[in-house]
Amino acid sequence: MFGETGSSLSAPPFRSYDRPVRPALLNTLFAPATALSGIGPKLAALLDRLLAEPGRRARVIDVLLHLPHATIDRRARPKIRDAMRDSIVTLEVSVVEHRPPGRFSKAPYRVLVEDETGDVQLVFFLTNHAWIEKSLPVGARRWVSGKLELWDGHLQMVHPDRIVDEAGLDKLAAIEPVYGLTEGLSPRVLARAVESALARLPTFPEWLDSSLQEQRGLPALRDALARLHRPQAPEDIEPTAPPYLRLAYDELLANQLALVMVRARMREAGGRASVGDGRLVRTIEAALPFSLTAAQRAALDEIRTDLAAPRRMLRLLQGDVGSGKTVVALLAMASMVEAGRQAALMVPTEILARQHFERIRPLAEAAGIRLALMTGRDAAAQRARNLEGLASGELDVVIGTHALFQEAVAFRDLGLAVIDEQHRFGVHQRLALGQKGEAVDVLVMTATPIPRTLVLTFFGDMDVSTLRERPAGRLPIDTRAVPLDRLDEVIAGIGRAIATGARVYWICPLVAENEDLDVAAATARFKELREIFGEAVAIVHGQMKGRDKDDVMERFRNGATQILVATTVVEVGVDVPQATIIVIEHAERFGLAQMHQLRGRVGRGAAKSSCLLLYKRPLGPVAKARLEIMRETDDGFRIAEEDLRLRGEGEVLGVRQSGSPGFRVARLELHGDLLATAREDAKLAFARDPLLTSRRGAALQLLLYLFERDEAIRLLRAG
Ligand code: ADP
Ligand code: MG
Repeated sequence: MFGETGSSLSAPPFRSYDRPVRPALLNTLFAPATALSGIGPKLAALLDRLLAEPGRRARVIDVLLHLPHATIDRRARPKIRDAMRDSIVTLEVSVVEHRPPGRFSKAPYRVLVEDETGDVQLVFFLTNHAWIEKSLPVGARRWVSGKLELWDGHLQMVHPDRIVDEAGLDKLAAIEPVYGLTEGLSPRVLARAVESALARLPTFPEWLDSSLQEQRGLPALRDALARLHRPQAPEDIEPTAPPYLRLAYDELLANQLALVMVRARMREAGGRASVGDGRLVRTIEAALPFSLTAAQRAALDEIRTDLAAPRRMLRLLQGDVGSGKTVVALLAMASMVEAGRQAALMVPTEILARQHFERIRPLAEAAGIRLALMTGRDAAAQRARNLEGLASGELDVVIGTHALFQEAVAFRDLGLAVIDEQHRFGVHQRLALGQKGEAVDVLVMTATPIPRTLVLTFFGDMDVSTLRERPAGRLPIDTRAVPLDRLDEVIAGIGRAIATGARVYWICPLVAENEDLDVAAATARFKELREIFGEAVAIVHGQMKGRDKDDVMERFRNGATQILVATTVVEVGVDVPQATIIVIEHAERFGLAQMHQLRGRVGRGAAKSSCLLLYKRPLGPVAKARLEIMRETDDGFRIAEEDLRLRGEGEVLGVRQSGSPGFRVARLELHGDLLATAREDAKLAFARDPLLTSRRGAALQLLLYLFERDEAIRLLRAG
């Protein structure tokens, strides 16, 4: 992607390397999981279900990075008399007697075992008798490991986890890692795959700075992985213990290094001063039905200063939902048009593209700005006209979806790329648009306020403008949490509200990772509401055709529909100021940031709005805390911080097992403090060796490959 853009970039700082796509050292790790011993096609399919991602199957590296989230401690080896009830123990016993059930009995098979201090019954339900006889021959010495219970006056162990002889004891892990599994995949099979993957682990050249490594007590990567998968103590797998920290740091370093490289590339490309005369900006401002808030004005000034400077802008505009980012973007684009260049606004969905287009069109017309909309659904003729207009310069501003950064789209002179709701786009998508012209200034907008640590993560050293203030006159949103068993009351309330003309969003549950189920739930609720409220109810969801979605949104906007049942497609940016009620069903399943985004769909007009968080009882502690925060505050920045904090607590409660969004192992709520270090580290390493050719540089290249920081790898290869 960077390769094709060389012509418009001056003196790229990176040269190509005559090396294979991926250093050979890593080949074993990126081999498919079927390369692991004991993993045939069937088990590989199960591993895929657990570890694959769209577009790629499970690989050895994925097995290695699938870290245990708990351990079973089998270190306790008491005598039977001293053994603790209801805990995991490993007993050394001799087998006394088998007590199989009668022929047609459903009773369990019991085996009596003993040591010199007492006896225990091993209990097996529906288990192959031959196997039991073979594993526990009378008179033999065995070690059995499992949970010891007292039942009906007898000590018993139901289905011991392990039964081993002396040779097996040597291999019995005293601390056994516990992994997330998927149906059909047994812990044993996964453990074998992990062992086989560990055996394939190469010795990496060290990329960490040795003083840092010492100071933080970080083991070598190979040792860290081995320790995480073969813990010697339960603490070994904790995300704050050295082995995990090592992995997290590596990932953060890869992330920061990639950002430093990408940014250097952008800066290196140089900038152009684009100075507007203020004429279009003034016309648009005069046409607005409101005046800008102080925060909007300040952000606009910062942006225009950047545009006028001869270096490239790389700025993040963050503002809470409803803080009015769109108009700032519009005025920034107008400023670029004043300077005689073009601007593009890229948004993640068609609904949004269309909405922005409709909003902006009258203002653009008032100022004489020539505007076009481009989405993936444009008719061929329309698309051809737009392409021509952008290439010839007859169009000043284009609003669109991903369609904008396709190959065929060329601009006469693109000066500014604005990217809305960035978290939906990958780094390279953002940059691809930035490379559609010479020295394109880039403005990224996000509606999810991002704590400082996260800004660093996702954007590195980006400049940041923040809209903390919201337009005056906004009323607070009345937020309530209501248990789902009071649904009837809620529906009655909605009935009263729509009788007075209210417009209502009804958001349906998010069922983890399954869009079909989401849609099914929404459809069921839609049918129910339709029976009560008839034609006033409509539904919109992600599996509908674009045009149908637009129609539904339009009918809701103009009031033909009063209740809009929706999956989370309305989450991002939809603006219908007349909507005053939002019902979020199964609110306990939503994250804080997402709930806040959803709530932001109301409270946009002059009327008082409310948000009903419908939850299913009983509420877990984290869900409860979330709902409380929602009721307490509507400050998106505070919510973002709380969200991060709660995710940390989620860990304590055993909820989370994997990395923060965008990461495989690093968890920003726990490893945020490492981020600043990783950033400094990356900056320094890059400053010393921008081509990554030194010994450490070569090792850092490996690191980038290992964590698949594609954008940086592309830079290395682009030359
Ligand atoms: P967001 O920051 O969530 O993208 P929008 O740009 O969609 O917010 O703005 C939300 C609403 O606020 C829009 O209807 C917009 O017209 C309105 N708005 C923006 N700026 C102001 C302002 N300064 N005063 C009053 N309303 C404003
Ligand atoms: Mg917006």
